[in-house]
Amino acid sequence: MPQIDQVAIVTGGSRGIGRSISAHLAAQGTAICVNYSAQPEPAEALVTELHAGGTSAIAVQADVSDSAQAHALIDRAEAELGPPTILVNNAGISAPGTLETYDEATLDRMRRVNVNGVINTTRATMAGMKARGYGRIVNIASNAAIGTTLSGTAFYAATKAEVLILTKRFALELGRSGITVNAVCPGWIVTDMTRGSTTEEEFSARVADMQERTMVGRVGAPEDIAAAVAELERGVTQLGLKGAMIGDHVNGRTFDEPEFLPFWKAAEQLSAVILIHQGGATVVNERTSRYHLPNTIGNLADRAVTFASLVFGGVMDRYPNLKVCLSHAGGYTCFGIGRMDRGWQVRSEARIHLQKPPSAYLGRFYYDCITHSEAALRMVIDTVGIDRVVFGTDWPFDMAIDWPVTWLLGLESLTQAEKEAILWKNSEKLLDI
Ligand code: NAP
Repeated sequence: MPQIDQVAIVTGGSRGIGRSISAHLAAQGTAICVNYSAQPEPAEALVTELHAGGTSAIAVQADVSDSAQAHALIDRAEAELGPPTILVNNAGISAPGTLETYDEATLDRMRRVNVNGVINTTRATMAGMKARGYGRIVNIASNAAIGTTLSGTAFYAATKAEVLILTKRFALELGRSGITVNAVCPGWIVTDMTRGSTTEEEFSARVADMQERTMVGRVGAPEDIAAAVAELERGVTQLGLKGAMIGDHVNGRTFDEPEFLPFWKAAEQLSAVILIHQGGATVVNERTSRYHLPNTIGNLADRAVTFASLVFGGVMDRYPNLKVCLSHAGGYTCFGIGRMDRGWQVRSEARIHLQKPPSAYLGRFYYDCITHSEAALRMVIDTVGIDRVVFGTDWPFDMAIDWPVTWLLGLESLTQAEKEAILWKNSEKLLDI
């Protein structure tokens, strides 16, 4: 892809999460406009730091809740740094409030910063991005938007839920112009916002309490969020990646869990091909680790779990343009699809997210050709359709086919057209190359 001079505007980029995002993007060679609203010192200190590291950077005061100031912010960034290619809508405030303590003016102010701020800067940036056919917009929403139980944050959560729906709708509006719009939903991160006006002692107790509640036993740091945002940008803008390879669960949680939906959404928006391969133990490990069975049986069982969790979990319906490739030819998926359909017919829990039988989704996935058996490959082709099977090798692992092209070309039950489709035609189409 052509090299683009990256210029990022990070709203609220002077402190906390925004500061960390600014520093991460700068480290990747991006010029940075550090926006702030009330406190010039942290913004100027960061800009000095970025200059020392060789980054072009400016600090610009603007209250993003005000449309005119948002436009002036974007104009100034463009005049001094060049056309903005990245907009990170990070500026936000959190005002506590419950039904009892509801204070209209305070909560209205929060809504104007958190929601109108996103609208104002996006509107101010989009004309230029559209004209250039390129833009990356990332909105910092919050875990609160998808449901947490922290008391006193209902109205804050509502503003962030609004940011999430706006992200989706803006993505629809701007996608055709080469502008992607994504959201990152941080959990509880140690910043000035979460610190508020608590004493050191109170804050330590709060951190300890939050640590207790988290799955991994720690609260977040601004760098965690910066890394997620920067990686999203880096993969697409700098590396020109076509997709990624991942395992099929995180700490045992399969990818139909709600916390992974933003990932699938981003994958669909980026048109990224996601290859699902084995990472770590398989379901067989719990029964036996002998005879290499965790691999020779386990990988195949796990791929059927991958297919089933994405299909029964409703992920494939929710993101109809996802491009998912299952390694190990989908494992036992093709062999077991009749039983999955039967389960869907007779059991209501199998139909919670699914209007159609699982077999209707076979043609939504891609499958590599690594079956180590001609009869099995023939069955996969006949079950999912020849246009869904792509070439795989498993190199450099010991389970790889030694001469995979020779193996495929030698299969008597495949036509020449089928061999060509598997060897290169389907991959070209899938990867859009
Ligand atoms: P923070 O430490 O309080 O920093 C907020 C930043 O936003 C500051 O740079 C501040 O600038 C700027 N800002 C505030 N109001 C603004 C306005 N009207 N116009 C322009 N800039 C403004 O906050 P944070 O914790 O890093 O949070 C950053 C974002 O992440 C927010 O959108 C927040 O809702 C979200 N988030 C935070 C957490 C968390 O646990 N911390 C969790 C989920 C989501 P000044 O210095 O001028 O005030």
